[in-house]
Amino acid sequence: MEFSSKLLENAVNEMSQLPGIGKRTALRLVLHLLKQPEERTSFLSQALMNLRSGINFCASCHNISDTELCEICASPKRDESIVCVVEDIRDVMAIENTSQYIGLYHVLGGKISPMEGVGPQNLNIASLVNKVKKGTVKELIFALSSTMEGDTTNFYIYRQLEGLEVTTSTIARGISVGDELEYTDEVTLGRSILNRVPFESSIKAN
Ligand SMILES: [Zn+2]
Repeated sequence: MEFSSKLLENAVNEMSQLPGIGKRTALRLVLHLLKQPEERTSFLSQALMNLRSGINFCASCHNISDTELCEICASPKRDESIVCVVEDIRDVMAIENTSQYIGLYHVLGGKISPMEGVGPQNLNIASLVNKVKKGTVKELIFALSSTMEGDTTNFYIYRQLEGLEVTTSTIARGISVGDELEYTDEVTLGRSILNRVPFESSIKAN
C-alpha cells in the first residue's frame, strides 16, 4: 500500500496491528477519524491510555474491574455458592447478557495449551482451587469452549478438586464443538447454563 503521507502510513500501520484489522480496514478507520471533529480522536486515545494505566483485575474472580472487587463479586444479590469457570472476560460478558445466571465467575485467563506454551501455572487455576478449599463454593460450572484445550483444562481442574466438597458440572453442549461462547446466541447460551450436566457424565460421554 502506497501512502501519500508518513503520518497516515504510521497511523494505518499501528491500527492494523489489532486482531482482525487488515491494512484496508485500518485505512478506512483512520480516514473516518480524520473526517470526525478532532476531539473524537482525543477521546479515543485518552480512553485507551486510561484503560492501560488504570486497568485492574478483580482480586477474587480476575475479571476486569475498576475496583478491587468487581461489581459481580461485590453484589449481595449474587449466589456465591456457584462459580462459573470461564476462559476470558468476553465469556463473562456473554453469560451476563443471558440474564440466566446469578452465581459468580472465575476467569482463568486462557486454556491449557502445550502447543502455545500455556501450562496450568500460567492460568488462574491455583486461586480457583484455593477458593474451593475455603468451603463456600458448592458447585463449579465449567463453561470453557468445547475444544481439546478446553476439555484438557476442565479435566485438569477437576483432578485438582479431588477430595474437596464441590459438585462439578459443565454447560450443556447444545453449543456445537468449536463454537466460542461469545458467538453463541443468548437464548442458547442461557439454556445451556440452566441445563448443565454433571461433569462426570460429560467425561463418560466422550
Ligand atoms: Zn470479581
